[in-house]
Amino acid sequence: MSTSDPAINKVAEKVQVDLVKEKAEILRRYRGLLRAIPGERSAEDSRLIRKAFNIAVEAHKDQRRKTGEPYIYHPIAVARICAEEIGLGTTSVVAALLHDTVEDTDLTLDDVKDLFGPTVTTIIDGLTKISGMQFQTDSVQAENFRKVLMTLSQDVRVILIKLADRLHNMRTLDSMARDKQLKIASETSYLYAPMAHRLGLYNIKSELEDLSLKFQEPDTYSDISQRLKKGEAVRKRFISRFIMPIREAMEKEGFKFQIKGRPKSVYSIYNKMQKKHVSFDEVYDVFAVRIIIDTRPELEKADCWKVYSIVTDFYQPNPDRLRDWIALPKATGYESLHTTVMSPGGRWVEVQIRSVRMDEIAEMGVAAHYRYKDNEEHSSALDNWLGRIREVLEDPGSNALDFVNDFKLNLFSDEIVVFTPNGEMRSLPANATALDFAYEIHTRSVGIALVPR
Ligand code: MN
Repeated sequence: MSTSDPAINKVAEKVQVDLVKEKAEILRRYRGLLRAIPGERSAEDSRLIRKAFNIAVEAHKDQRRKTGEPYIYHPIAVARICAEEIGLGTTSVVAALLHDTVEDTDLTLDDVKDLFGPTVTTIIDGLTKISGMQFQTDSVQAENFRKVLMTLSQDVRVILIKLADRLHNMRTLDSMARDKQLKIASETSYLYAPMAHRLGLYNIKSELEDLSLKFQEPDTYSDISQRLKKGEAVRKRFISRFIMPIREAMEKEGFKFQIKGRPKSVYSIYNKMQKKHVSFDEVYDVFAVRIIIDTRPELEKADCWKVYSIVTDFYQPNPDRLRDWIALPKATGYESLHTTVMSPGGRWVEVQIRSVRMDEIAEMGVAAHYRYKDNEEHSSALDNWLGRIREVLEDPGSNALDFVNDFKLNLFSDEIVVFTPNGEMRSLPANATALDFAYEIHTRSVGIALVPR
């Protein structure tokens, strides 16, 4: 067969076109990532992120995901979740782009250290270690687990990036085999969703729970989500009527605010049905509304109570259901004022009142809180937050036990020997063969052509 065979040429052309398209798509996703990174970026930050991107592209260039897509889509997506949905900065974006390189490619930890220094290396090392761990779900080894968490919390970004990694894997779980789906989904609901909850990442927790349920109990999941969809129009109509007088009164008082009806997650309904042995309708019956006010920090507490007073002017509150998490924030940092009131139609409505700042903390975790502190760089703010997590973990009298009890798993060592659910000892793969690969990439800047200058 000669290469002038038209059929072969056609195939070759087609592959080439696809590769060109893919390259463009990789770049498009990379630019999307850059846009998603919060705050201003120094030239040095931009340089580091581009370097990490180039190295990751090169390292994963021959790998594809189960979907057939280029593997690099995954680290880009994980980095984007870190930036956009958790609010992390440059170091985390760099580590997220490289998070699978040491485990899955020829790049070694030493290479990473040479290229990016000790912080990124510690994070990648932690991520590689977690990914080798076998989680046991039928017995509790709280103390061991606490130790491991403490090691990981040397830099909590390890856990945060791991959560972003898991979230993207759950979002793309459709293409996996059924047994893999079940294993990953149960690990997610057992370990990662509670972890996200503990770190105050409400949206991520909720999505992880919903996705787990979708794969673990597909029928229940689709039943509840269909009922939710069916009730959506009624719920919206009811809520808009309910908030009308509140809205008018607040406008009269000169508040700047937003009111949202809060759709319940599939999992939260499922969970209540299970726990309280009630029907879908009984759980669904309680509607929830969130009032978010744009106000100055020194006024936010008083303003929240003013809004409470407006709400209860129109609707009778249930005194047993008043929750003041402003005076006493939850351990996760969650602040909000909750009340449940009776609507004219005899339906209970939960009303959540909070400031914009409190809302960001509720959605993105305590990391968001420190963005509001004055005269502090984002990075040192994050350090404070990590320090707080460490304190909680290290203080046996505080929430440490709760923290640990949330994760019912068994880890015997924070080093390299772990036990499988069958009790078999397993050592993690030793570091891959050291190649001068990355150094060469670095000095010759291979792959830089992928990035617009
Ligand atoms: Mn990954």
